[in-house]
This record gives sequence, structure tokens and C-alpha cells, in this order.
Amino acid sequence: MSFQLPDLPYAYDALEPHFDAQTMEIHHSKHHAGYTSKLNAAIEGTDAANMSIEDILKNADKLGAGVRNNGGGFYNHKLFWEVLSPNGGGAPSGALADAINSDLGGLDALKESFNNAAATRFGSGWAWLIVNSNGKLEVTSSPNQDNPMMPFGDVHGTPIMGLDVWEHAYYLKYQNRRPDYISAFWNVVNWDKVAENYANAK
Ligand code: MN
Repeated sequence: MSFQLPDLPYAYDALEPHFDAQTMEIHHSKHHAGYTSKLNAAIEGTDAANMSIEDILKNADKLGAGVRNNGGGFYNHKLFWEVLSPNGGGAPSGALADAINSDLGGLDALKESFNNAAATRFGSGWAWLIVNSNGKLEVTSSPNQDNPMMPFGDVHGTPIMGLDVWEHAYYLKYQNRRPDYISAFWNVVNWDKVAENYANAK
């Protein structure tokens, strides 16, 4: 089995002015494509070639650095594109909104916690909203292309929303101003998809 670079569910310029078209095109067609092809090369002829991406991530400690880095890169970007939308922003509703209120103290508290996780992740990495092993929402971050499905770090669970804070995700438009990029994310976040991911993770 080999993994395929997913098409974006919108045009490269669809998230303007929040996420610029040039960054989106390079990020998808170069960075995500690179992780995908390197993942395929790393698993070819190994036991991982017959595993789902979720099982690959859960066993990343046994599969080597190439699978860890590129398997994470493949999965993380796929999730990232899906939780963005030109019709995004606003506020969640339904069961997700209820859980944000009960588990995290409300949407403003979620944003404050998530913004802090994204801003303070040193170097390259990701901020996450996850469903943890107790079935509760939790905000965390991870370095490089790790994510909380992997058996690394202290916080584990199923990611339902992620924000890429590698410089390649924002430098062309925002240069060193990572907090401005994080703020822009809230204008394009696809709460309907996050709610779907939440339902599936529960
Ligand atoms: Mn990236």
C-alpha cells in the first residue's frame, strides 16, 4: 500500500487573506508531498507497508525515525487541511460546544489555551485539540511532526484539530510574527469538521 497526497478541499487562494495562496501552494505541493513520498519510501518492503496510518503512528517508536517524521508529516497535514475552510471561523455548536464548555471552560478558554500552546512550542511543531484517554478534550502541543497518537511525550489521545507552527506554515506572510498567524487561524477553522472528528474520536 502507498499513501497518496490528498487534494485540498478548496483552492490555494481560498483562505486569503488569513492564509496566503503562495504559502498554501508550497505547503501542500512541496512540503506535504515530500512527507508523503518519503513515508512511502520508508515503509516500502517493511511490515508498515500493510498498516493504516493510524497504526503506523501508534507504533512509531518501533518503526524508525523516517517513519516517525514522515508518517507524522503525512497525517498531520492531512488533518490540518481538513480543519480549515474558507467558510470557517465563528463558533462550534452541538456536542462539541458542550464539551468545550464542560471540559475546557468555554471557547474563550480553549482559544487562550490553544494560542498559548501554539505560541510557546519552541522551534517546529504542532498545537492540538485532542480527545484524551478519558474521553475529555485537552489542549497540547508536540515537537517536529510528532502527534499525540504516537507513543512519545506525556499527553496522548486522538487529535481532532491541529495547527502547524513550523515556520514554513507562516513565514512568507507573517515572518517572525507567529502570534498573528495563530490569531488568523481562528478565522478559517472549520468547526463542522472538528465536530465530526470529535464524534468519531468519542
Ligand atoms: Mn507543515
